[in-house]
Amino acid sequence: MSVNSIIPYGHQVIDENDIAAVVSVLRSDWLTTGPKIGEFEEAVCHFTGAAFGVALSSGTAALHAAMFAVGIGPGDEVIVPAITFVATANCVVYQGATPVFADVLPDTLLIDPDDVRRKITSRTKAVIAVDYGGQPCDYDQLQEISNKHDLRLVSDSCHALGAEYNGRKTGTIVDLTVFSFHPVKHITTGEGGMVVTDDPELAEKMRRFRNHGINTDHRCREMLATFHYDMEELGYNYRISDIQCALGISQLNKLASWLERRRQIAGLYDSLFAGSEDIMPLRQIAGNQHAFHLYVVRLADKIDRDQVFQIMRQNNIGVNVHYQPVYLHSFYSRRGYEAGQCPAAEEVYDHILSLPEFVGLSDRQVKQVAVSLNEAVRQAG
Ligand SMILES: *Cc1c(COP(=O)(O)O)cnc(C)c1O
Repeated sequence: MSVNSIIPYGHQVIDENDIAAVVSVLRSDWLTTGPKIGEFEEAVCHFTGAAFGVALSSGTAALHAAMFAVGIGPGDEVIVPAITFVATANCVVYQGATPVFADVLPDTLLIDPDDVRRKITSRTKAVIAVDYGGQPCDYDQLQEISNKHDLRLVSDSCHALGAEYNGRKTGTIVDLTVFSFHPVKHITTGEGGMVVTDDPELAEKMRRFRNHGINTDHRCREMLATFHYDMEELGYNYRISDIQCALGISQLNKLASWLERRRQIAGLYDSLFAGSEDIMPLRQIAGNQHAFHLYVVRLADKIDRDQVFQIMRQNNIGVNVHYQPVYLHSFYSRRGYEAGQCPAAEEVYDHILSLPEFVGLSDRQVKQVAVSLNEAVRQAG
């Protein structure tokens, strides 16, 4: 890895097969809107068990497409967890609707179904559940709530490609599931994302949405020997290229072994922190398969997390904090979101730390991180 002695918190793996796959597209006729898009969509569907995949230019574009597909618009409210990447809430704002923040469970940082119930109003149209860190949410409860109140349930599984909930892979649990292929995620296309669904109509809507709202694409018109197309509704250019999809297809071949390695690393951290009263890994829910995009610990209240962060960074260990409650960002403050609305999220935010977790991390490095963290915690206690 060409990052000197710094251990980052995440890092991609690119091998010669990946490079050859990309080069072969560069030598072909189709750099974008070509055959690799559909091939990648099918490969992700094959992996997850979903029926349809729509690949887009980013996970964020995929979330936006999902909101469009379920008809979110001005006046609607969509419930999202307080602790997530900002894109989960922003996609609601893109559609002119209002994100409403639900609190998280302090030991898993997953959306709290009881708080979802409390946040439902007559305007609520959907819930976006985030599989924080790679662990699936409580979908039995979330689906029950959604059915009862006629809400659409969307899963932001950007952390959780390959995770399983009660034996079902992410992608087959709810109507719409979103993945990201940013380089820190499980597999990468550089930038990229996908929505998977079993609903052909939703898939078709999202295909139009990624292409300006136009009903056919360039290759399709070429095959039909026609110049005519119709823009049926307002969409965007959210297309992904064949160059990126070729990389995605090649990466996906390695996903199963990469998931195994991520779980091994997490298991090693768990054993190294077992019994510690100062360093507490988030709770893993029995019966589910965690995908470990992140490995997150909670530090004891008496420990100054920010000081631990500084010490670790000085030691060239790329720890991180995922995430500040979204509504505390200045954009949302200016829109009137106030502190205090999700107390568990605000409380836990001061104490969490994400440790390096990626496929190229060696056992020796995991132990080095643990030794370093124990020492930092002693200093900052
Ligand atoms: C990465 C991520 C996104 C956005 O994905 P991009 O591909 O970076 O646009 C959305 N939600 C969550 C939870 C993420 O981690």
